[in-house]
Amino acid sequence: IPNATPSPTVRFPPPAMPSLISRNVAVIGAGAAGLCAALELRGEGHRVVVYERETQIGGTWAYTPETETDPIGLDPTRKVVQSSLYASLRTNLPRESMGFRGYPFVANRKPGRDSRRFPGHREVLEYLRDFAEEFGLGELVRFGRDVWHVGLVEDRKWVVKSRDMNREEGDNEVYDAVVICNGHFTEPRIAEIPGIDEWPGKQMHSHNYRVPDPFRDQVLMLIGSSASSDDISREISIVAKEVHVASRSVEDGRLGKLPGHDNIWLHSMIRNVHKDGMVSFEDGTEIYADVILHCTGYKYHFPFLETNGVVTVEDNAVGPLYKHIFPPTLAPWLSFVGLPWKVVPFPLIEIQCKWIAGILSGRIPLESKEEMTADIEAFNASLEATGVPKRYTHRMGEHQQFEYDDWLAAKSSSPPTEEWRKQMYFVTGRRKRSTPETYRDRWDDEDLISLAHQDFKKYPL
Ligand code: FAD
Repeated sequence: IPNATPSPTVRFPPPAMPSLISRNVAVIGAGAAGLCAALELRGEGHRVVVYERETQIGGTWAYTPETETDPIGLDPTRKVVQSSLYASLRTNLPRESMGFRGYPFVANRKPGRDSRRFPGHREVLEYLRDFAEEFGLGELVRFGRDVWHVGLVEDRKWVVKSRDMNREEGDNEVYDAVVICNGHFTEPRIAEIPGIDEWPGKQMHSHNYRVPDPFRDQVLMLIGSSASSDDISREISIVAKEVHVASRSVEDGRLGKLPGHDNIWLHSMIRNVHKDGMVSFEDGTEIYADVILHCTGYKYHFPFLETNGVVTVEDNAVGPLYKHIFPPTLAPWLSFVGLPWKVVPFPLIEIQCKWIAGILSGRIPLESKEEMTADIEAFNASLEATGVPKRYTHRMGEHQQFEYDDWLAAKSSSPPTEEWRKQMYFVTGRRKRSTPETYRDRWDDEDLISLAHQDFKKYPL
């Protein structure tokens, strides 16, 4: 794979067109979404301030060994740690399809960099740092500023109130628009388990899992079938006595010992737990466990946002939102980036940001409030009619995400998703399901890699 790091001369998007309306825009968060929002907004001629609680960019990808004081994440007064990464994490998407379209995530051959196709988390942080440096985004970020209030003031403007690490309040600043990019992998969701108050073991959420060593010789009970649960169960099994995984999505035929492993078992969902440390499953079987590790995902959480009830989070659905982005009555002055899940996040975020930036400048027309509301109602009705639970409102998956990306691309006069990127997503998903242990190191989609690199040549070397 050639070293195709784009040269410093490439500039995406092109410089602002003079006739566009320039707005004052606040962006909350300097993870992948906030950085991309800053780039697209500035490219469209807006004045941008990015508020970032931490002292560095990267959000999720800024790994820290630090964990939260409440391992299960229920205590609202706990010090929040943003990143949910474990030390050994490698990407679950190949780098070619994962990166921003305007800044391909190609192998960097500099010493110390990780050139693997599914690199470790540090490499993604380095990529985001390269991206920020390439486009001079760091200067737009106010580091160490925790936003504690975003609310409407007169004339449909927004006030953003922030404070520094010492809890000293900064200025209250007023903006035309606010783009929320605070991430949604930080506030743990916990499984409700009958009997848990009397169960004597330890509980934690995967948000606070970093390394396997503390679980040596223990019996672990993992709940959930996410990518994290797949990785963590295998990693812990090397040191633990037994690893049990309970999930709604395991078919009956797969229950029992996981093929290729001596000490991992798959179970149906937990029915209840008992005072003596036992865990009972819906199929009537029982095991003893020392630790319950909730790999049960995260909640959307906007503790700083005050919209007088216009935007709410119900059953983990943020709404009402047009195209997962704009609340119709506050559009386009309030927007959310990166809410969809089971997606390829970076390109999706990128096209969302292009659309938002173009609408704010007046280059791209936005549907009327009535049209947006009707669209949301039709979307919700279609979820209900097909039996999709409300908590899956922002879940996309195989084809839906690319249809969504391409709808936004058409609105933004951007090209649709490259065919190779879609195919790479599909074949990687199939490989991950059939060979979960090796999918990151063995593949046979060289043809798609070649097509990707052909495309990347658009970015001068
Ligand atoms: P974040 O990265 O969470 O950034 C949000 C930022 O907002 C943070 O910097 C935070 O400090 C800041 N912030 C929050 N609240 C405030 C506030 N009140 N005031 C000021 N600043 C604030 N994606 C992939 O593409 N490939 C993968 O392999 C992959 N693996 C993943 C594995 C795990 C375990 C997890 C949790 C996620 C993974 N993802 C992966 C998804 C990943 O979250 C996205 O790629 C992306 O990083 C999301 O970026 P974001 O900017 O939306 O959120």
